Amino acid sequence: MAHNDPRPAAPTMKPWIAGIHAYVPGKSTGADGRKLVKLSANENPLGCSAQALAALACDHTPAAYPDPDATALRAALGREHRIDPARIVCGTGSDELLNLAAQGFAGPGDEVLFSRYSFAVYDIAARRCGATPVEAPDADFGADVDALLAAVTERTRVVFLANPNNPTGTYLPGTEIARLHTGLPSDVLLVLDHAYAEYLEPEEVDGGFELAARAENVLVTRTFSKIFGLAGERIGWATGAPRLIDVLNRIRGPFNVTASGQRAAQAALGDHAFLTRSREANRSERTRFIQAIEALGNHGLRAVPSKANFVLVLFEGAVQAETALQAIGEAGYAVRHLPGQGLPQALRITIGTPQQMDDIAAVLRRLCGEAS
Ligand SMILES: *Cc1c(COP(=O)(O)O)cnc(C)c1O
Repeated sequence: MAHNDPRPAAPTMKPWIAGIHAYVPGKSTGADGRKLVKLSANENPLGCSAQALAALACDHTPAAYPDPDATALRAALGREHRIDPARIVCGTGSDELLNLAAQGFAGPGDEVLFSRYSFAVYDIAARRCGATPVEAPDADFGADVDALLAAVTERTRVVFLANPNNPTGTYLPGTEIARLHTGLPSDVLLVLDHAYAEYLEPEEVDGGFELAARAENVLVTRTFSKIFGLAGERIGWATGAPRLIDVLNRIRGPFNVTASGQRAAQAALGDHAFLTRSREANRSERTRFIQAIEALGNHGLRAVPSKANFVLVLFEGAVQAETALQAIGEAGYAVRHLPGQGLPQALRITIGTPQQMDDIAAVLRRLCGEAS
């Protein structure tokens, strides 16, 4: 290279990409490489529907591209939720759709707004497209509508809100979601991330689908990764106004959902018994686990109220989160410590089987010096 050649010696990363901290997935092995039971990724301990498994096993031709428009799956989603399939787009997990929502509507100079202690992907999605991530203060670990509205500026283009929220499990009722939507300028896209919505009780719906059906600036995203137990297949979907869906269709991967994933999702959608069983098992184990944590309240342990399939446990006494993480690991379990998200004092623990939750509770009781 000539000595006055202005070209760098190697490809140069864009500065907004340099600002990204890669997503840290839930661990499945201990520090010594030992395999751990994973209560770190909010997977369904019951697995998935037997009908979905059968659909995955059935004969097909891997040489053929999948249906680029996931036509049968969108039709099934439309029937299930009474949504026009033209208002639905499928994605490689809802993760792809969250990223596309940011990319389609925000860029350099724009702001993407979300609450403190929300899903780590929102920050990455904002930075990936060169936009500026903006965090609004939380209210006791949950989203605060007033704080979000106060953080809106003329540069705000997209607002992400997970309801229930990950990693805190907190939930805003429909009245608060409506208040947030009403307070936003009509050119700001509100993305309601419903990854855990199926864990809510039927009377707890937050009105997201109704907003997505009627407003021009609301997208709701859903996933087959959580209650449906199909995280490995990578299937998500979004619904909203046709103009929003058109934007996502322009920039999504043309064959973004595998053929097996489309079939499995369609089968899983129809297995209402599996969903009910999963929701009820989660509810009763979550209640039992929260009671076990509350019994350790005098040792500074506290469970953030959760509507999801995990509980964020705060360690505000003598027992520290790191100590608990290590002891839980020695007992054979991986749970989630999120110091990078401003939660060094907390562990996010997925609700597993009764035996698994008993094991975790026993470790915590032992650390607190209480008899098991
Ligand atoms: C798990 C999760 C998702 C789902 O991701 P997929 O890409 O669909 O597997 C989306 N949002 C939140 C808040 C999550 O916790």
